[in-house]
Amino acid sequence: MKAAVVRPQCDGYFDIKDVTLRDLKPGEALVKVEYCGLCHTDLHVAEGQFGKVPGRITGHEGIGKVVKLGPGVTSLKLGDRVSIAWFYSGCGHCEYCVTGNESLCRHALNSGYTVDGAMAEYCIVKANYAVKVPANLDPIKATSVTCAGVTTYKAIKTSQIQPGQWLVMYGAGGLGNLGVQWAKNVFKAHVIAVDINDAKLDEVKQQGADMVINSSKVDPAKEIQDKIGGAQAAIVTATAPICYDQALGSVRAGGRVVAVSLPKGDIDVPIAKTVLDGIEIVGSLVGTRQDLAESFELTAEGAIDPIVHTRKLSEINDIVDEMKAGKIVGRMVVDFTHGAN
Ligand SMILES: [Zn+2]
Ligand SMILES: [Zn+2]
Repeated sequence: MKAAVVRPQCDGYFDIKDVTLRDLKPGEALVKVEYCGLCHTDLHVAEGQFGKVPGRITGHEGIGKVVKLGPGVTSLKLGDRVSIAWFYSGCGHCEYCVTGNESLCRHALNSGYTVDGAMAEYCIVKANYAVKVPANLDPIKATSVTCAGVTTYKAIKTSQIQPGQWLVMYGAGGLGNLGVQWAKNVFKAHVIAVDINDAKLDEVKQQGADMVINSSKVDPAKEIQDKIGGAQAAIVTATAPICYDQALGSVRAGGRVVAVSLPKGDIDVPIAKTVLDGIEIVGSLVGTRQDLAESFELTAEGAIDPIVHTRKLSEINDIVDEMKAGKIVGRMVVDFTHGAN
């Protein structure tokens, strides 16, 4: 079968290779991939930023149908549509796995990084970890739910925002855009979106953001404190480190700042404000199987509408260049439904 693999030199691009998958082990299933989105995380892996994994099949935004079951599988049946997400599996028995924090499992495996991913005609999954995709959800849009969708859904849960409270979304790009939709349509929050790009801000305004702020023109923290006395929570999806300073400055006493993006280097925390105002700073990493199942159901009901475009596998390195150039609105999704061409 054809697969996109990390190059030997880990230069950030992929080779399209003929790969033979091993036989299924007990508890595993074989998935015929229909669609797989390409994510910035895949580019980081391809560059060796988390450690070099030459030859690894990339892809963690995969959707496909089960075509073969390994011994002992009871949770899936042939024909089920399932997802292949970044969280490939946990150990299943550590303190994180048994307390609803399985994505923090110290033995978690990650698709396209520590195990082969879904940018291929076929992918092996652990049946108990392959979350089913509802029949009424477009599988192309579902690819984005496996990553950006569940990540932002989980981040808003982590923010503990309540209906009618104010939530600030730093970054109105691929993540922030979906975050605004979740926050409005599911969590019923008042939402302020902050970005430096007016086009992105116009778009989230149309999706229901109550206020948008271009942080290249005004100081968002001052604006938010002046207008509403600070927000109850802020979520940072933008990668500019200054967004963390602005997020900390834009919450009210008792507020929460949820860290999603990974800027290079560290952030400065204003310790006096953090102590005196009881500010919480908390990280949020992807989501659990349950979070993903909820995200799929809610998306099928229309809660969010990911922007997706289908492409060919042979175009994968063009997509890489387009992503690096920041040219893409929404997500590029490789279509395997007509084979790997
Ligand atoms: Zn991703
Ligand atoms: Zn575990």
